[in-house]
Amino acid sequence: MNLNFLSQLKLEHENLGIAIGNQWQRGNGPKIKSTSPVNGNTIGEVQLATEEQYHQVVDQARKDFLEWRNIPAPKRGEIVRQIGEAFRQNKEALGHLVSYEMGKSLQEGLGEVQEMIDIADFAVGLSRQLHGLTMHSERPQHRMYEQYHPLGVVGIISAFNFPVAVWSWNAFLAWVCGDVCIWKPSEKTPLSAIACQKIVQEVLQANHAPAAVSCLVVGDASVGKAMANDKHVPLVSATGSTKMGKSVGAAVGARLGKSLLELGGNNAIIITPEADLEMSIIGALFGAVGTCGQRCTSTRRLIVHESIIETVAEKLKNAYAQLKIGNPLDTENHVGPLIDKEAVNNYLNAIAKAKEEGAEVIIDGKVLEGERYSSGCYVQPAIFKVENEYKIVQEETFAPILYLISYNSLEEAIAKQNDVPQGLSSAIMTLNMREAEQFLSTNGSDCGIANVNIGTSGAEIGGAFGGEKETGGGRESGSDAWKIYMRRQTNTMNYGSNLPLAQGIEFNI
Ligand code: NAD
Repeated sequence: MNLNFLSQLKLEHENLGIAIGNQWQRGNGPKIKSTSPVNGNTIGEVQLATEEQYHQVVDQARKDFLEWRNIPAPKRGEIVRQIGEAFRQNKEALGHLVSYEMGKSLQEGLGEVQEMIDIADFAVGLSRQLHGLTMHSERPQHRMYEQYHPLGVVGIISAFNFPVAVWSWNAFLAWVCGDVCIWKPSEKTPLSAIACQKIVQEVLQANHAPAAVSCLVVGDASVGKAMANDKHVPLVSATGSTKMGKSVGAAVGARLGKSLLELGGNNAIIITPEADLEMSIIGALFGAVGTCGQRCTSTRRLIVHESIIETVAEKLKNAYAQLKIGNPLDTENHVGPLIDKEAVNNYLNAIAKAKEEGAEVIIDGKVLEGERYSSGCYVQPAIFKVENEYKIVQEETFAPILYLISYNSLEEAIAKQNDVPQGLSSAIMTLNMREAEQFLSTNGSDCGIANVNIGTSGAEIGGAFGGEKETGGGRESGSDAWKIYMRRQTNTMNYGSNLPLAQGIEFNI
């Protein structure tokens, strides 16, 4: 396999994992290997940071924030524009690395880098639109308005499945907002993070920006915990499992900091008798097997009207039979590997539990064997007919397992769609306007994302992204998600010569 992209991205076999801009340091913690799930080969090594080293980075970030916040927002936007350009130039190489280190298809790896470029463009425009409202004061010769100021150090904890895009959704907005960022990436995909830091540091340096605008601390959960407990980090944005989110949310909440939590999903598509079935099958297929079922928005449940469930099952069986599973860097293949052997075990355990609870096998799961699958991380995407209340169906299993659930009335379908602890993404497939509107209404989906005639995965950066309930409630990326990266201030200015009090209160001496 041609691995030239590693040298293009200036990666070594031994990599330093701590960076304050362009100042790199070796971690004092244990050494970890980044192993590709594509072929089981070691891509590179990095030594993890200790908590003490994390705190040193925060100290520098707090100092550099004082300088960065005084650079006008459109000028910060210009630097982010150049960062977007740098990612355009490195799109091929970084897309290959993401695909090789994480195991998603090359198209999805490139798509992830494209999301970074898109959010950079969005952030540039935003840098001239960080505006608040003005209001009419009830007092004469007074003016009231609100403004948004930079917050400080933003901590970003990211998951393995979107090793680069999620960081950029946070960092690029936070930078134009005037914050400095410390990134603790997933220890399963450290090299993708190191490559991004190298790309960004050059732009920061060329613009004489303070170094700690972008900091990287490759560490394990202990560094994430230190960040969550650190009163010097006013906002912690954490993407990952609900278990991690509960820990981070509690720690940040205990010190009354702000957290932006983007956690697990258990996403469903409802297919009604009035759906375009061809479209529904394509949506379900991509949602269930894309990224080998390792997207937070992956389709995990298909809630199908009882009159068409057999037809849908048959069509899915045919579609699954055509899937090519193998090396994700080969664009002929549709499905790559799971991230590691632990994920493979979780997949096998979930299938065993579903069967124990009474699942009917439509397509059985198995670990694929043979030379093409030597990493041991390739699995057969599976489909089971189940009941929504099965314990295993209520959980997010990060693997290509699709559960088919039947329904009789739309109310029942919506109730089942909502009856899981998570609330990230949802969809309905129907050409009936009443069904679509009911799904989107107050009585409809309780998720942060609700789509009509589109699957559950593949969000665009223009909308605010996130979910309710155990998905954590955070919103990032587009719309007004930027507001969480700033502190809000209401200002009242008296330009008169009297001091009238609000609500008509008199205070005479
Ligand atoms: P994970 O929770 O194991 O790890 C995520 C990150 O959190 C890693 O960087 C890890 O080191 C860190 N971490 C773990 N425990 C921590 C703790 N107690 N305190 C602080 N940091 C801690 O998740 P993962 O396996 O890397 O990713 C898969 C999960 O992420 C899935 O549940 C998926 O749905 C979710 N996810 C959600 C979104 C979203 O936007 N909602 C996006 C991507 C992934």
